[in-house]
Amino acid sequence: MEVQLTKEDVLFQNEVRQFLEGNKYQDGTDYEAWRLAWFENARAKGGWDVPKWPVQFGGPGWSPTQHYIWERETAQVEIPGDFPFGPVMLAPVIMGYGTPEQQERFLPDIRARAVSWCQGYSEPGAGSDLASLKTKAELSEDGSHYVVNGTKMWITVAHHADWMFCLTRTSDAGRKQEGITFLLFPMDSEGVEVKPIITLGGVHDVNTVYLTDVKVPVENRIGEEGKGWTYAKGLLQHERTGLAGISRSVTALDVLKDRARSVKRGNGSLLDEAAYRNKLAELEIDLMALEYTELRSLAKSSAGSAPGPESSIMKLKGTEIQQRIQKLTVEASGPFAGAWGKHDHGPAFATQTTQAYLSGRVYTIYGGASEVQKDVIAKNVLGLKKSSRAK
Ligand SMILES: Cc1cc2nc3c(=O)[nH]c(=O)nc-3n(C[C@H](O)[C@H](O)[C@H](O)COP(=O)(O)OP(=O)(O)OC[C@H]3O[C@@H](n4cnc5c(N)ncnc54)[C@H](O)[C@@H]3O)c2cc1C
Repeated sequence: MEVQLTKEDVLFQNEVRQFLEGNKYQDGTDYEAWRLAWFENARAKGGWDVPKWPVQFGGPGWSPTQHYIWERETAQVEIPGDFPFGPVMLAPVIMGYGTPEQQERFLPDIRARAVSWCQGYSEPGAGSDLASLKTKAELSEDGSHYVVNGTKMWITVAHHADWMFCLTRTSDAGRKQEGITFLLFPMDSEGVEVKPIITLGGVHDVNTVYLTDVKVPVENRIGEEGKGWTYAKGLLQHERTGLAGISRSVTALDVLKDRARSVKRGNGSLLDEAAYRNKLAELEIDLMALEYTELRSLAKSSAGSAPGPESSIMKLKGTEIQQRIQKLTVEASGPFAGAWGKHDHGPAFATQTTQAYLSGRVYTIYGGASEVQKDVIAKNVLGLKKSSRAK
């Protein structure tokens, strides 16, 4: 997709390219030191370390096109690993609903990537139906702290995180969305136990977290007691927009085309085969359509609004596209995709494709499963009413 860039935008694009080139990781050097320096240098550029933060919290105040340029440029090179839990998901909640003291206490460390966070939302009986969560938080008699008991499940990087933001139940009265309270606590608090879950791709990214009599001071509660659902919902929209991974898919599609071109078929390559080409073309068209949706959403968010239900469209279509790219990569690998891990046969890229494909099944589950996104789109984007036959 070609976006018409103004002279100023081209200057900005060049500045971004220069920054990325000047801050490349040098093989053999300390990765963590590079990572922290990268964010510090990005900050010195005027808030480039927190592109989506509002100006009053130190963000860069970019136009939609500048955000678009940043996304596209950073998707094409190696940039430091950065989990979204702190800077993208929790920070807007603290900015919107935290006290000035909480903002001062938590935002600087999130920004410096000095403290890492995990998201304690899901439970064994509460995933899509998150509001059914049961992890209990009881206020102590003197009102100084909550005592938290329950189990959180599928918690990404809980084994590395310093802190968790957690949804807890402080009351069973009223609708299930009421009585939910948003708490923050360190992962090394007494009573926090983290156990690994090995997923289909054979990796340890997620965990079950057992919480037994964990003491959380009241000053670690965000907003009002019982109003956590409102804060949690806003956060999910930021999460969904991020999970769409549109810029990464644009780069991944280019890589896929190169790979298909490198696979020999008769006198030509796999890319010359009509059946394969058609699938690639369909994928590319869907991706272009999604890029326009992303631009519309960027325009909205840079005018000051939080991402709305269109984040569900991006999550749904973006994650499907990521999975289609992985599927076509497996097809391009042919029988060599079947051999898991390192082997000397077939194209070099074939060694990783099956693992990536299996691990990628999760894209349409986490951050709200595809079926749930379809419900949100039907209700909040298309304005459809529930069928009289639906219970
Ligand atoms: C790898 C991974 C990482 C994760 N990371 C985190 C994390 O860091 N923090 C966190 O809190 N959670 C995390 N999750 C949890 C994730 O958000 C949930 O798995 C997800 O919301 C689905 O919930 P569930 O697993 O309980 O499935 P269920 O909700 O039980 O769903 C099972 C099936 O039923 C379908 N379904 C459910 N409701 C409806 C409906 N209303 N209409 C139609 N179909 C429906 C679903 O689409 C799905 O196919 C992660 C999950 C995975 C797998």
